[in-house]
Amino acid sequence: MNNSYKRMSATIKSKVIGIDVGVAITTIAVVDLRGTILAKDSMPTTGFPMVNNFVEALSERIILLAEANGGYENIRSVGISAPSANYISGCIENASNMPWKGIVPLAAMLRDRIGLAVALGNDAHASAMGEYVYGSAHGMENFIVISLGHGGLGSCFFSNGQPHLGYCGSAGEVGHTCVEDHGRLCTCGHRGCLEEYASCRGIIQTARELLEASDEPSLLRDLKELTPMTIGECCDQGDAMAKEVYRRTGFLLGLGLSNYVTVINPEAIILTGELTKASKWLLKPLEESFDEHVFGNIRGKVKLVVSVLNDDERDVLGASALAWTVKEYSLFK
Ligand SMILES: [Zn+2]
Repeated sequence: MNNSYKRMSATIKSKVIGIDVGVAITTIAVVDLRGTILAKDSMPTTGFPMVNNFVEALSERIILLAEANGGYENIRSVGISAPSANYISGCIENASNMPWKGIVPLAAMLRDRIGLAVALGNDAHASAMGEYVYGSAHGMENFIVISLGHGGLGSCFFSNGQPHLGYCGSAGEVGHTCVEDHGRLCTCGHRGCLEEYASCRGIIQTARELLEASDEPSLLRDLKELTPMTIGECCDQGDAMAKEVYRRTGFLLGLGLSNYVTVINPEAIILTGELTKASKWLLKPLEESFDEHVFGNIRGKVKLVVSVLNDDERDVLGASALAWTVKEYSLFK
């Protein structure tokens, strides 16, 4: 081994930190090149009205976790997934569900405190990066990741091996495209947005509306709590109204995704999130509606798959995948 090789190999760092900033809990993980979570820690996101205090507490946790797992000097960079985060600006921008209002330059704040490069992206971007680097989109250049979660319907798409973020980082907001003229009022202020139908709160609202619209007997009426899972369980028992809830949800999701796919022409759509837990009831009406509405030349050429990544690890893995996208930088070299 010659000296120059020795010098180079000594500087290659094979671990990153992934951080998922959720509304209630922030999860921190040390992740290696293969997407193996080597160690994990978490802390509350709430209880820090000032973001400075949150960054301070987070920094301490990061350093402790890294030191206990191979040493801080072996960490290459940090990736954060957070609601309403913008990869281009490195800021959380006007997050409606977070305690910190306005523009929060989280990436720069954390970088200045811990001395490592920090990448920040929104949940959908991080999730797509996770699928690309470690998950169902591995090896694909053109794909869409759809997150059907509690907060709504998020998406990010890759074009020729790169995430398409748009001019100011707002690309992929298919959840706020209109699928129902004069439909339900959305959190964005518009009416009839796809995420008001194809998300956890969307499917629950559909169930409520169907229950109120008739006296038809249904197992849904006996449920303590309406959730995508409990509605799916009623479908398993043959309940007609529960099946109709999923049929309507799948229909509108298929319609929205067919428009998206007709523009983007991806190899695959990867579905993630809570709503996919009852995917056997969602996928059939989704595919029927998708095939009905998608442009003919694309029909039959788009894979529709449910993500293989573990739900508990997806967000933090996605955040760690973001960390590999930034140039290595350290104050302490
Ligand atoms: Zn909307």
